[in-house]
Amino acid sequence: MTHRLLIDGTLVDGAQAMDVIDPTTAAPFAQAPRADRAQAEQAIAAAKCAQAAWAALGYDGRRPYLERFAQAITDNLDRIAETLTRERGGPIADCRFEVGRARDAIAHFATQRLEDRVIRHTDAELIVEQRYAQGVVVAIMPWNRPMTLLAFKLGPALITGNTVIAKPAPSTPLSTLILGELAADIFPAGVFQTLVDANDLGPVLTGHPDVAHVSFTGSTPTGRKVLASAADTLKRFTLELGGNDAAIVLDDADVEWTADRIYAAAFINAGQVCYATKRVYAPRALAGPLAYALAARAASAVLGDGMDPATTMGPLQNRMQFDKVLEFIASARAEGGTFLTGGDPTGAGYFIRPAIVTDLPGTARLVQEEQFGPVLPVQVYDDLDHAIAEANASPYGLGGTIWTGNVQRGIAVASRIDTGTIWVNQHMALPLDVPFGGAKQSGIGLQNGAEGMEDMTQLRILNARLR
Ligand code: NAD
Repeated sequence: MTHRLLIDGTLVDGAQAMDVIDPTTAAPFAQAPRADRAQAEQAIAAAKCAQAAWAALGYDGRRPYLERFAQAITDNLDRIAETLTRERGGPIADCRFEVGRARDAIAHFATQRLEDRVIRHTDAELIVEQRYAQGVVVAIMPWNRPMTLLAFKLGPALITGNTVIAKPAPSTPLSTLILGELAADIFPAGVFQTLVDANDLGPVLTGHPDVAHVSFTGSTPTGRKVLASAADTLKRFTLELGGNDAAIVLDDADVEWTADRIYAAAFINAGQVCYATKRVYAPRALAGPLAYALAARAASAVLGDGMDPATTMGPLQNRMQFDKVLEFIASARAEGGTFLTGGDPTGAGYFIRPAIVTDLPGTARLVQEEQFGPVLPVQVYDDLDHAIAEANASPYGLGGTIWTGNVQRGIAVASRIDTGTIWVNQHMALPLDVPFGGAKQSGIGLQNGAEGMEDMTQLRILNARLR
């Protein structure tokens, strides 16, 4: 199967080709086209050229394109999900879910129109908030959820009249290239384009004067570079960055019920989710039983090829992340952590058995930093105020959860957590009409909801004197 870039309405080869590694086997399984700087410049020029006509179509003119695109994703869902299982790793059911949710996001934003807002209309004056497209949007993605994270940018950007260049992470390019292939038959040239790089074109895109908005999802260190490179041209940007989500368990929580949900929240996609639960705080009386309940679930995980329906957990997505998680595990052992289960690499690919770790000091790396992998620390607390302070002490502020038998008490505790989203008795619920974004060093700007669409537009105040 040959994959191509979509540039200016045409499917083209890259200036070079590069291997795509299957993380399940650690061996190359496909080739991807790799764009060079000239192709990036060509895509930016095409996006700029196409943008005015795309914006001029208006909401009613653009909507059918997005609807056709959503339908094309539905028609190709199996193929995209199978490609995702190969390039990203993980159970096919989860990959199907991801592609379905990406399709849902495109379909949802197709139905969303940003209306003008009248601030004041009197005999004397009319003051209206209007919104118009910013121009060329560059969408830069990480490797952990290539389809949903792209759709959360693509839907809001396209429906508001921007043109979009999608740049997937170098290790997961193929699913995005398939979307480009589908888009080639649907959108006018230059409205949606795909560029694959080897981690080298980011600065070309983010520093280019003809790019109006950089919508970046990835790590906080790279987010800082994106922010710096946008400064020269005063770009608009959205940064969705790392997290270290805390789950705080209250003393009235049911251990088995909570363990089921924390396990799912921490180990989905082998822990490689920005909003995954990355540390647990439990009261002394519950911490032991909860840690053992989590360990029992982790020990029964079936690691393997995502195409095997028995598989419940896939590998780490790439060698660098695999090595990074093994370093976290080594440092947790060195800092006195007790591994109730897991923590060892297994198989030919980048697999690590899911681990539950207790007895770590609060200062341990595994507690303080984002592990982004299948290893979860369970911390004991004696004083709930102290647990809340620990949760808030992080430089990150993406999400978090409160688990309790008394939802009103949970809501009161949740209201003291400094994050962009905080859940009570559920985790990772992200409805498309609800904005999400990070506090502190987890990001700037919002995605999804009307706010996510507004972030892709320029506010214009129309102020008319009527007499
Ligand atoms: P990364 O920061 O290494 O890479 C992300 C993207 O940035 C890739 O496409 C990469 O090619 C590109 N890039 C690299 N250097 C660049 C530069 N100088 N300028 C512009 N782009 C550049 O992140 P990753 O390792 O792929 O992803 C994992 C991280 O993403 C985790 O920290 C995770 O928490 C975060 N994440 C956040 C969210 C969210 O919504 N907040 C969602 C998913 C993942």
